[in-house]
Amino acid sequence: MEEKKTLKFQSEVKQLLNLMIHSLYSNKEIFLRELISNASDALDKLRFLMLSKPELNKKIQSPCILISYNKDEKKISIRDNGIGMSHEEIIENLGTIAKSGTKSFLKSINTDVLKNNQLIGKFGVGFYSAFIVAEKVIVRTRSFLSDKKDGVLWESNGQGEYSVSNIRKKEIGTEVILYLKDSETMFADEITIKNIIQKYSNHVSFPIKMQIQKTQKNKIITPSLQSNLTWNQVNTGTSLWTRKKSDINDNEYKEFYKNFFHDDQNPIAWSHNHVEGNQEYSSLLYIPRKASWDIWNRDNKHGLKLYVRKIFIMDQSNEFIPNYLRFIKGIIDSSDLPLNISREILQNNQATKMIKNSLTKRILLMLDNLSKNNPKDYQIFWQEFGLILKEGPSEDNKNYLNIVKLFRFSSTYTQSNIQNVSLDDYVSRMQSKQEKIFYITADNYLSAKNNPHLEKLKEKNIEVLLLFDRIDEWMMNYMTSFNKIEFQSINKNNEYLEKIFDNKTLDQKKSEQELSPIILRIKSYLKDKVKNVRFTSKLINTPAAVTTDEHDITTQMSKLLISTGQNSPEIKYIFEINAVHPLIIYIFKIQNQKQFNNWIDLLLEEALLSECGNLEDPNKFVQRINNLLITHISSKK
Ligand code: ADP
Ligand code: MG
Repeated sequence: MEEKKTLKFQSEVKQLLNLMIHSLYSNKEIFLRELISNASDALDKLRFLMLSKPELNKKIQSPCILISYNKDEKKISIRDNGIGMSHEEIIENLGTIAKSGTKSFLKSINTDVLKNNQLIGKFGVGFYSAFIVAEKVIVRTRSFLSDKKDGVLWESNGQGEYSVSNIRKKEIGTEVILYLKDSETMFADEITIKNIIQKYSNHVSFPIKMQIQKTQKNKIITPSLQSNLTWNQVNTGTSLWTRKKSDINDNEYKEFYKNFFHDDQNPIAWSHNHVEGNQEYSSLLYIPRKASWDIWNRDNKHGLKLYVRKIFIMDQSNEFIPNYLRFIKGIIDSSDLPLNISREILQNNQATKMIKNSLTKRILLMLDNLSKNNPKDYQIFWQEFGLILKEGPSEDNKNYLNIVKLFRFSSTYTQSNIQNVSLDDYVSRMQSKQEKIFYITADNYLSAKNNPHLEKLKEKNIEVLLLFDRIDEWMMNYMTSFNKIEFQSINKNNEYLEKIFDNKTLDQKKSEQELSPIILRIKSYLKDKVKNVRFTSKLINTPAAVTTDEHDITTQMSKLLISTGQNSPEIKYIFEINAVHPLIIYIFKIQNQKQFNNWIDLLLEEALLSECGNLEDPNKFVQRINNLLITHISSKK
């Protein structure tokens, strides 16, 4: 047997070790993830070589990763029957960095299959994380190409030197043995190890087995790799998302969703993709049937589960999907990101942004397909998540059109509070001379539907979208047009609206002319209580209404501001009078100034009530009506 040789780490390794032990201090458990990832890589590499060298098959046992521990001896061992390392390889791989093992492995074999291989893009820092918890690390390894007597033992305390010597090793593959620091002995524990494996490595596609101690308590048993009897598998190994789409049936997708995301209902739809090229990744995205209970809690993080080559990195990485799509549940598995990527780095990463862009497009497309192919399910989606999607126009101008075409509304056409009218539907029903999309905002469906502002439009059969979700008024600030057709609020005074109503009947014109002095009379009574008083022809059954000026804040916007604790400027309304209404004609004739004023107050209060849903002084309003009723009764006596 060859003598033990002591060698010095490359100076960068020393620096790295120092850096890692200090910067990863708070997240020590990742050492196990890194070592399992290496074992999994070694198995992948061997499996890959077997594709081109079938004669190797004889040499190879069924691939697996074995974890054992011993509390008394304060050690943990991670074993694989993968590709292993030769004497030269171990010096190169574990003595230097910037020499990515994977890179040289890829260089050493030249085949076209490589393009499809997931082994590309690794970072050579993982192994040294063992020294975060270990005071000494021993690696026993044998390359799949060497003999029993040509095993290698590598040993180091992570302080600057390591030694290498030859050993006999029966099986090919690698065993990494950690001698834990006194402060880290808690890692030599069944539950702790199991939890870490299930947290980070559950979806490694090779079985990870643990020796469950039974009779021989506290004594490490070292069964041969062939005997699986005393070993229990602790990972599920079901990284469904890495499998080929054509090999997975609908049921598998559904079952996986329910187990993985702890949902008892099937998802509404999903989208599974493998992307190659600049950024290599797989994504599996689901639309749930029910919103999670905390979806409205802005402080709570939502987002995808991030994996790097099947190794779990973090939960809720919201860097990959925009906030307005936060109802999506899913997985992104990158082939290119480093295992030790942090949220901070993710946030400022160009690759992350590219992935986010294409996932956003993918989700919007998935929703568009759902709306076309399965309107019933789309309706379920819209009821559950429409309010969240409505945040889209303010957040994502780039995808504006693809977002708003997913929106569904109530409208005067369907006469139902079910929101199922799309903008495309609306546009297809627009009248030949109609240039704008009309909408009205209100507190609820009924007050939108029965709003007096709609009377004339209904008569003319012009469709109006009825908006009554709290977010709507705010959302409409970001929705200026749809396919170049502008939106027009009915609550607001606007020139175009006037034009629509302008073809007044002869009756109307005549009446307005005759009654014109009433405008001045009302103005001189109300003074600056209102912004303006004028005739309108949009009303039929209602004597008067109020409207806000085009550039002023609307009633709903003001309510929204107040409900979120903000200040809202006081609204000055325009008071609009229906000159053909019998009440107006009646009031016009009243000479008694006090009586006249009383009627005007009543009409204004009525208009405000129907616009705002409430009054500053409802009792005064009730009293006024009662007084009028009494006058009416006494006149009949
Ligand atoms: P990376 O895995 O990103 O390449 P590591 O520091 O984790 O970096 O590992 C360095 C190299 O050591 C690997 O690329 C690989 O060549 C080698 N190595 C580590 N662990 C094993 C193992 N269990 N079997 C075979 N080779 C290994
Ligand atoms: Mg590694």
